[in-house]
Amino acid sequence: MATVLLVEDDHVVRGAMLRSLTDRGHTVQAVATALEALRRVAADAPDLVVLDLGLPDLDGADALRMLRGITDVPIIIATARDDEGEIVRLLRAGADDYMVKPFTGAHLDARVTSVLRRAGRASRTEPTTLEVGRLRVDLGQRIAQLDGEPLNLTRKEFDLLAYLAARPGHVVSRRELLEEVWRQPSIGEDQTIDVHLYWLRRKMGETAAKPRYLHTVRGVGFRLVAPD
Ligand code: CA
Repeated sequence: MATVLLVEDDHVVRGAMLRSLTDRGHTVQAVATALEALRRVAADAPDLVVLDLGLPDLDGADALRMLRGITDVPIIIATARDDEGEIVRLLRAGADDYMVKPFTGAHLDARVTSVLRRAGRASRTEPTTLEVGRLRVDLGQRIAQLDGEPLNLTRKEFDLLAYLAARPGHVVSRRELLEEVWRQPSIGEDQTIDVHLYWLRRKMGETAAKPRYLHTVRGVGFRLVAPD
């Protein structure tokens, strides 16, 4: 599911596209002019833009260049012109994909999904292995090693360790862990974290009383740091 900025001046076409994207779970904002599109892109940072080429205020190709001047957001061109030369120019000018009108809602959704998938891959540049001291956490393969030895962790223990190892030295609150690792809102006193942390510590050969990597910050949360 994505937030989509739909730029289309024909209100019938706009209404149909808006409905079909919304029906598929996307959050859609629709505007009718290139200048409004530029404003919205700057203000709302959508995940994707669907841009009609025939707009009342600016030529679509100019609108595309102006959008590219301020954002890397994926852009799908929706055009009535089935002109190969024009399409090549638009792709060179920074469009990620194009669709020739008329098209179905299912087709549009398939293009949106495919462009977002490619954009997601391209932007995934964070390191896939975290290292803190002698601890290595390989996020891609979901393998953690300590002092060169693999740790035999459950899925949640791994997620917890990975979350803390991505923020070495920072105190992470219980509430944040529940929301980000367990994906549930914090509901009063919850033993879930303590149980998982107990086992994680055991497997890492440490205890709350004698911490090496995993430190409890009383009343606040937890912090993972490399031992001195
Ligand atoms: Ca139009």
